[in-house]
Amino acid sequence: MIRFDQVVKRFGDLTVLDHLDFSVRRGEKVTLIGPSGSGKTTILRLLMTLETISDGVIWVDGEPLTHVERGGKLVPAKEKHLRAVRTKIGMVFQQFNLFPNMTVLENITEAPIHVLGKSKDEARERARHLLDVVGLSDKAGAHPAQLSGGQQQRVAIARCCAMDPKVMLLDEVTSALDPELVGDVLDVLRTIAETTDITMLIVTHEMRFAREVSDRVLMFDSGRIVEQGPPEQIFEAPANERTRKFLEAVR
Ligand code: ADP
Repeated sequence: MIRFDQVVKRFGDLTVLDHLDFSVRRGEKVTLIGPSGSGKTTILRLLMTLETISDGVIWVDGEPLTHVERGGKLVPAKEKHLRAVRTKIGMVFQQFNLFPNMTVLENITEAPIHVLGKSKDEARERARHLLDVVGLSDKAGAHPAQLSGGQQQRVAIARCCAMDPKVMLLDEVTSALDPELVGDVLDVLRTIAETTDITMLIVTHEMRFAREVSDRVLMFDSGRIVEQGPPEQIFEAPANERTRKFLEAVR
């Protein structure tokens, strides 16, 4: 579903990803861990085409995602491809990014209606089902400001699911929440992980959650994968010294 092929990302003189290779299978749940600044968010932002790639190719569902730098020139993937590939990917951010002037239901139905061309009735029916999944059936008419952070994040997750993405990117989705609100959000994500075949790429500091939902954990340091494996292996018997030190620091 996702393949990074010799991906390079530079910000000016700073090389953040240096010829990175990795693949994620269809339906696989993969967690990216590693110290702050190791390039995890950049990987998600490249997939969302919020950043341009400096070199290499990212493949999503068999199609090239974005621009490639060749001989100092950016060669863009075809716009039609880009648009089609973008609708396959959804992202949930640390700061929920809901539309403040819309109700919860409108937040969830906006893109299905205007991007996917669904009818209002169909979009609303699906939104109501998703609100049920995230435990917020009674909040359809509320505005984001009337909800707790945890509730807003659950709406953001429902909004992402409403687009039926093949790939879901989760960037520190519980970091902005008060500790007592984290559990409900993780429960919802656990349900989605266990009951759907959405491919998930997760950046989190919640190591227990990572351990429960991931099929595979990638440990990053300075833009490179220093170790990867099933969660039991990474969390219980890390082979790499940097992984051990990182896990000691966050536990
Ligand atoms: P992580 O998510 O692992 O904390 P990031 O992907 O956010 O790491 O950042 C990797 C590196 O790229 C850091 O050194 C960060 O300062 C740098 N970086 C990220 N975005 C930008 C940007 N827009 N401009 C310059 N440097 C950036």
